[in-house]
Amino acid sequence: MKLRFLGGVDTVTGSRHLMETDRHRVLVDCGLYQGVKMLRRRNWKGFPEPPSSIDSVILTHAHIDHSGYLPVLVKHGFKGKIHCTQATYELCRILLPDAGHLQEEDARYAKKKKFSRHDNPEPLFTVEDARHALEFFETHAYNKEFSPTDDITALFSPAGHILGSACVRVRHDNQSIVFSGDVGRQADPIMRPPEALQNADYLLLESTYGDRRHSTEDPEETLASMINQTLARGGIALLPAFAVGRAQMLLYLIHKLQKEKHIPDVPVFLNSPMAISATELFLHHHHEHRLNEAQCAAIDENTTFVRSVDDSIALNQRRKPAIIISASGMATGGRVLHHLKSLVTDYRNSVIFAGFQAPGTRGDAMVNGTDRIKIHGAYYPVRAEVHNIDSLSAHGDYEEILAWLKQSDIRPRKVFITHGEPCAADAMRKHLEDELGWNAEVPELNSEVDL
Ligand SMILES: [Zn+2]
Repeated sequence: MKLRFLGGVDTVTGSRHLMETDRHRVLVDCGLYQGVKMLRRRNWKGFPEPPSSIDSVILTHAHIDHSGYLPVLVKHGFKGKIHCTQATYELCRILLPDAGHLQEEDARYAKKKKFSRHDNPEPLFTVEDARHALEFFETHAYNKEFSPTDDITALFSPAGHILGSACVRVRHDNQSIVFSGDVGRQADPIMRPPEALQNADYLLLESTYGDRRHSTEDPEETLASMINQTLARGGIALLPAFAVGRAQMLLYLIHKLQKEKHIPDVPVFLNSPMAISATELFLHHHHEHRLNEAQCAAIDENTTFVRSVDDSIALNQRRKPAIIISASGMATGGRVLHHLKSLVTDYRNSVIFAGFQAPGTRGDAMVNGTDRIKIHGAYYPVRAEVHNIDSLSAHGDYEEILAWLKQSDIRPRKVFITHGEPCAADAMRKHLEDELGWNAEVPELNSEVDL
C-alpha cells in the first residue's frame, strides 16, 4: 500500500491524502486551500492525478479545508462514492453550495475590478457544481465498518471536533492506518470528547496546536468579562465565528451566562445564513453532542436569527448594546465584514475571536494588534478592543492530543504529522518522540511512502 500527501502537510488547510493499493485509489479528505494567496493559488493547479482514476473518497468532516475541493474533483471526472457520516453530509449540503456561491462572487468581482489576467475569470466551481457533487455522497454510522473498495474497509469513530466529525481507520490486507482528521477537546462545552482509537500500524495526526497549549483561562469567565466591559461602555460585542461549530458553542455559552445573570440580557443576534442552517442542524442532532433537547430549545428562543439581507443591513445600523455573532470566523469573508466596517472604528465596541486564526487572515492581523484593516478595498482604523479567546478552540492542543493517544490502545509503527504550520508540526513530532517514544515524521507536500 502506498500513501501520498497531496495537501494539508505544510499548513492547516487543503487536506488531501491518497491511498493506493495494487488495484484501487482512495482519497481521504479533499479540502480547499485557504488563507494566504500563495496557498489559495494551489487550488487552481489541478489535481496531481486524473480524478477519474480515484475510486472513492472518505471524508473526515465537513469543514471546507477538508471537503471544499470535492466539487472540483467531481467536475473533473471523479465518479466514485464520497463516504462520510450523516451529519457530515447534512453539513456539506449547507457548506459546499455556499462555497460555490463565494467562488462565483469572487470571479464576478475579479472581472469587474479587472484583477484577473483572464478577460473572463471563471469560478473554481459553481453552486451547481457543488450540488452535483452532493449526489455522490454515501453516509455511514459511527463504528460500523464499510467498504470504499473491494480491497479496503473503513470505520468512522467520533472525533469530537464538530458535528459529524470522525477519525477514520482504514484496513487493507493486514495493514491499518488511522487518519485523525481534526481532533476535538476533552472538555469542550458542547461536543463530546474524541473516542479512544483502536490499534493501527500507521497514524496520520493533525497538529494545529502542536506547539501551543490553550490558555488555562475559563472561557466562560473570559467571555463574560469581555462582554460586560463592552456593554458597560455602551458598545456592541462582535463575535466572528466559524459557522459550523464555534457559532453554536458561543450561542450556548451566551445563553448560559445570561440565564445565570453573569451578563446583561441584551439582544443576541446570529447573522449568517450558513451559521443559522448549521445551528438548526446542531439543535436537531442532540444525540450527537452534550446539549439536551430543552437546552437546544432555550438557545433557539434566546437568539434572533438574521436571515435576509435587509435585516442584516438594518442590524448593521444598530448602535445600542448587543451581542452579534457572524461568520466567517477568521474575518476572511461573509457578513461579519460589514459589521467590522461599522463597528471596528469605535473604541466602545469589541471584536472577540474564538479560535485558530490562520496566518494571512484579517483575524490573524487583528489579534496580533494591527492598527488598521482593509475591507472591500478601503482601510479602517482598529479602535475597538480586540481579543481572541483561544481556549474556545475546537482543536485539542498537544497536551490534550497526547492524553487522548495515551487512552487509546494504539502503538503505531510510524506517525505522519499533518495539518499544522511547519513549526507546530515539527513540535508535535518531538512531543510524540519524547513522551511516547513513537517514530514520527513530518511529510513533505506531494511526497509518497511505501507502507
Ligand atoms: Zn475542522
